[in-house]
Amino acid sequence: MNDNQHLKNAIAAANPQLNTVQRHSVYGTAHQSPNRIVVHAMGEYILSEDGRGYDYAPDFLERMQLSAHALVTSDGTVLRCRNDDEGAYHARGFNAGSLGMELLVSGKHDYDSFLRTIKHPYVTDAQYAAAVMQCREWVRLYRITLIDRHSDVSPGRKFDPGAGFPWGKFLDDVRR
Ligand SMILES: [Zn+2]
Repeated sequence: MNDNQHLKNAIAAANPQLNTVQRHSVYGTAHQSPNRIVVHAMGEYILSEDGRGYDYAPDFLERMQLSAHALVTSDGTVLRCRNDDEGAYHARGFNAGSLGMELLVSGKHDYDSFLRTIKHPYVTDAQYAAAVMQCREWVRLYRITLIDRHSDVSPGRKFDPGAGFPWGKFLDDVRR
């Protein structure tokens, strides 16, 4: 069995197919032809502006009038919030022609706790497998060669998905 088959089997065993849930966001441009993937991370629950409660990530984005194409939860569910041929507001300067994926960091976070958390491993196996599968599908469908972290396209301003996300391995796994 070659490495490719081995990984396919491992991913299939962990998650036989992408478990997607539609949660459409209205924020984004009407049309795009994607040629890039931008990988992000954000808290699963984020402290609200008034500091009195926590917003679930997709609700937080909605309130900020932001969006992403896919939010991957720690149990490996993919929340699809924009169609691939629609733009999303996820990476300033790169919103036209890119697909945005948010890895949801489990638990409740303010920005400081989020930044601390993503310095260390935080993705679950099911979440990692789902993220790989979603990106592979995108690469295959749109022949995408550009896969970046948010911190790559916004250096000094954005820090996600952070040192805790195994970036080199992820790129290898997506491109297998
Ligand atoms: Zn980001």
